[in-house]
This record gives sequence, C-alpha cells and structure tokens, in this order.
Amino acid sequence: MKVNLLSILIPVFNESECLPLLYAKLCEITATLPCETEIVFVNDGSIDDTLERLIMMRQNDSRIKVIDLSRNFGKEAAVSAGIAGVNGDALVILDADLQDPPELIPQMLAGIEEGYDDVYGRRTARRHENRFKRWTSRQYYRLLRAISNIEVQENTGDFRMFSSKAIAALRQIKESERNMKGLFSYIGFRKKCIPYEQPPRAAGKTKWGYFKLLDLAIKGWTSFSVLPLRIISFTGVAVSFAALIYLLVVLFKALFFGDPVGGYPSMMCVILFLGGFVLLALGIIGEYLGIIYRETKKRPFYFVNKKIGDEEELKITN
Ligand code: UDP
Ligand code: MG
Repeated sequence: MKVNLLSILIPVFNESECLPLLYAKLCEITATLPCETEIVFVNDGSIDDTLERLIMMRQNDSRIKVIDLSRNFGKEAAVSAGIAGVNGDALVILDADLQDPPELIPQMLAGIEEGYDDVYGRRTARRHENRFKRWTSRQYYRLLRAISNIEVQENTGDFRMFSSKAIAALRQIKESERNMKGLFSYIGFRKKCIPYEQPPRAAGKTKWGYFKLLDLAIKGWTSFSVLPLRIISFTGVAVSFAALIYLLVVLFKALFFGDPVGGYPSMMCVILFLGGFVLLALGIIGEYLGIIYRETKKRPFYFVNKKIGDEEELKITN
C-alpha cells in the first residue's frame, strides 16, 4: 500500500524543553521520507509554554498542526483525540521526549507499504528504568495475558505506525475507559515488530507516577477480561465446599466425642480469611462496577479547545 500522507501524532503535556530537540530530529527524518507528512501535536492541557512554542513552530512550518485540548485528560485521551483528528493514510504515534526514536519511522513506513497494518516498536533494553518498574511491568503483562484472550505485545509502548485500515478500526472504538495498548492489540490486523533500544528521556521529567500506572493497569485488566469475576465465583464455590466438610467434621466430633468447643485459633483463621476474601471480592466487583458507571454516562473523554492548522472544525468522535 502506497502511503501519500503520513501523520506523525505526538501527545504533549508540559514538554516545552523537549520540543526543539524533537522538531530538529523530525525535520531531519521527514526530509528522507518518500511521502508527505503532517505533524500533529495534541496539547494535553500543558501549563508551561508548550502551546505558545507549538504555535510559533506552526508559523514556520505549515506541516505542523495542533489540537489543543481543554485541559489535561491523560495520554490515552490525547492519543484518541489525535487518532480522530489526523488526515494521513498512515499514522505513527511518538512520545515527545525522544524515547521513541524517530529514526525508526522510515523502517516502519516500509513495513506499512509492504502490507502490514500495525508496525510496532519493541523495547529491547530498559536500562534507565529501575528494577522495580521493570518487574511490575513484567507482572502486569503476565497477568493481562493470563486473564484476557488478546495477544498483548510485551515491552511495547504506544510507539507504532498504523495503516489506514487500522486507523479506521481504532476510530470505531467508542469506549471511554481506554487502555490504548490493549486496544491496539484488540483490533488485530497484520502486525510487525521492530526491536529498538529505548534511550532515556531527552529532557524534562516523566509524567507517570506509580499511581497513574496502577490505574492504567487496572483499566487494562478489567476492560479486557471478566475472568477475575469468574475466579471469585469459583473460589466462592471451593470455599463453601471446604466449609461444608469442616462443618461436618465439627458436628461429628461434637456428637460422638463430646467436644463442643472448637478451637479459638482455628475460628479466628476462618473468620479472618473469609473476611479478607470477601473484601477482595467486593473490591474486584467494585472495579467493574466503576467501569460500568463511567461507561454508561457516555461522557466525551476529551474536549477540544481549538484546532490550529486544519480549516475544518474537528469533530469530537466519541
Ligand atoms: N503525556 C500526555 N498527557 C499526560 C501524560 C503524558 O500527553 O497526561 C505525553 C507526554 O508529553 C509524552 C508521552 O505522553 O509525550 C509519554 O509521557 P512520559 O514520557 O512522561 O512517559 P514515560 O515515557 O515515562 O512512560
Ligand atoms: Mg517518556
């Protein structure tokens, strides 16, 4: 498939320091590409001078477009706004901090022109991340793979290029509880992997605390599987069965050996174990309930303040 216009989508949240570095790199790379490009920045409610810088960059380079969101909605929403707003027949998503090396774009484009629909970068080394982050990330994927039946690519971020078919598919996804990485796997199509070594952030600080990551992880698990609910049911059945047997034992002992007082320690164990399990079960059910609650409101998950660079008004496609 010949690509005529490649959209480069970059969600930015307080990335003022990174923009000059990123732009210089992009100019270098796009000059070598065989197709036209548009560079779409989604300003995710930055509070530094990111937007001013983008507007200045746009004055010198008409390939630059800016979708300015009304506040910070998070990267998942910013990426969604970008997917809805780009015009290209191929789309690549980049982080602003140069952790997704733009040098890979020509290779990805070649993959799309070969007929692949989703060419994704896989990080081979994450040396600049601490052990705990790498370990939690591995556990997250293990659990996600174990409980969902979609093939989620490990060590893969949002750094990927989509064909027009894949873009059209992504635009059809309307759910508001979004874990984009999961959705990229969910749409299927022919995928190709390009391994790369991830460099550290070019400038500035990461925007993801552990709390935000945990939120994303829970969204991933709950929006792609109901297996946790089923596990609760099965465990409930098993515990009831065990309880029944234990009850018979206690009754038997009391009736035939006159031993009416069960041990206090064993009683405490049972009560605490069951109490803990019931709370856990409620928590898991609560997570699903929360998703249903947010989903049923059908609230748009981002709003556009203004769109700079495209004549036509952006449709908010939720
Ligand atoms: N980002 C965003 N909205 C947010 C947080 C992050 O648009 O609320 C953007 C950020 O500007 C960057 C990309 O998402 O371009 C990745 O963020 P970051 O580098 O902080 O994440 P990390 O690489 O540490 O996972
Ligand atoms: Mg980063």
